Amino acid sequence: MGRHFDVAIVGTGHSGAQTAIALRQSGFAGSIAMIGEELELPYDRPPLSKDYFSGERSFERMLIRPAAFWQQRDVAILNGNRVISVDPTARTLQTQAGDTIGYGQLVWAAGGHARRLSCDGRDLSGVHSVRNRADVDRIRGELTTTEKVAVVGGGYIGLEAAAILTKMGKKVTVLEVQNRLLARVAGETLSRFYEAEHRNHGVEVRLGVTVESIEAKNNRVACVRLNGGELAEAQMVIVGIGIIPAVEPLLAAGALGDNGVAVDEYGRTTLPDIFAVGDCALHSNPYADDLPIRLESVQNANDLANTVARAITGNPVPYNSVPWFWSNQYDLRLQTIGLSAGYDLAVTRGAPADRSFSIIYLKQGRVIALDCVNATSDYAQGKALVTGRVTVDPNKLGDTALSLKELASGARQTADKTWHRADQKAT
Ligand SMILES: Cc1cc2nc3c(=O)[nH]c(=O)nc-3n(C[C@H](O)[C@H](O)[C@H](O)COP(=O)(O)OP(=O)(O)OC[C@H]3O[C@@H](n4cnc5c(N)ncnc54)[C@H](O)[C@@H]3O)c2cc1C
Repeated sequence: MGRHFDVAIVGTGHSGAQTAIALRQSGFAGSIAMIGEELELPYDRPPLSKDYFSGERSFERMLIRPAAFWQQRDVAILNGNRVISVDPTARTLQTQAGDTIGYGQLVWAAGGHARRLSCDGRDLSGVHSVRNRADVDRIRGELTTTEKVAVVGGGYIGLEAAAILTKMGKKVTVLEVQNRLLARVAGETLSRFYEAEHRNHGVEVRLGVTVESIEAKNNRVACVRLNGGELAEAQMVIVGIGIIPAVEPLLAAGALGDNGVAVDEYGRTTLPDIFAVGDCALHSNPYADDLPIRLESVQNANDLANTVARAITGNPVPYNSVPWFWSNQYDLRLQTIGLSAGYDLAVTRGAPADRSFSIIYLKQGRVIALDCVNATSDYAQGKALVTGRVTVDPNKLGDTALSLKELASGARQTADKTWHRADQKAT
């Protein structure tokens, strides 16, 4: 066998890097290696569809930590290595290059690969995903010869790319299969707001359409054929239709899972001494009624990594972090706290026409999530409403004369009094 590490981390993204950082912070003195297929040191992924895409941020400024950090903490980074199989009995990994690496504990932090279209033309030159640095470098390299771009998928990544390309003067068409943008992650009001914003900036938004094929002229993308035969002219296609969790080797080794690898509240998979973190970890989330979900966010990558580092160092604490997320499009900063899926009431606080407002989602009277657009104080103050699963009069939530901080503390006092009365009755 080749090398052996006390902790081997597969993946050099957010969750892999944070696992190594948290292990060293908590005094873990054993050997650590991060094994990743990308060639770069661990870097921040969100700028790929934001200021790295636009050219406003250099790659060096995206590094999660500088090279010296990893050297000083004796974290080996074995990049350019794809792990293709795991032997949980022998406690070894096999890389595509044929190396065998032994481990004491394994942390699977492999994220996901961009989901690709299945139609004819998907492999043409000019068809791109936005998942890693190489993708964005390729896109940027082709922009000078590109006038029209079709973005397939009206989720955050597609819309962020559409916003930047539009600012660059490209003619962008967004093609979305659902009847609204952001359908998977946000309520109707936010969807319609972003649809109007993109249209106002000159983006053509096509809803309820599917891509039949991508067609070429001189070996380069020329247009996208939609259901019904209509053509959308484009010299570039950006596909933002989600990810496929990169968990095949773990599932093949016997770990439970399906859309991701199943983990418990400490990040443990069903295989001995194998943990999973980040985008690929299918976990029961307290903010999703304890249902198994995967979250694709920096918050989840970091916090689940911290949870696993604690479990490895003998100080286990169940995962219980409130989900948060952000997206930048044009001059709009969206900040989300909580998970809105399953809401039964959405309250709009402020006016979307002012381009500074929040949507507060409730379920059975309790606040479960907020989407805040250019409304940082609502985001900061709304956290307590979500973590406390607070019950507040929806009319008050919509009243901008009342701060969310006051509403959260008022609701807490009412709850405390109710508990106090209940205690007195019980004694
Ligand atoms: C363009 C873009 C914009 C985003 N914007 C935001 C945002 O604004 N806010 C937010 O919260 N989140 C955002 N996200 C999501 C966030 O970046 C991810 O949730 C986060 O990167 C997940 O971290 P991870 O470690 O699980 O996976 P990743 O960061 O994807 O890292 C996984 C690594 O493992 C490698 N790998 C995969 N399989 C193997 C294998 N078999 N062997 C070796 N290595 C392997 C991958 O190549 C990759 O380097 C964005 C993501 C993208 C792509």
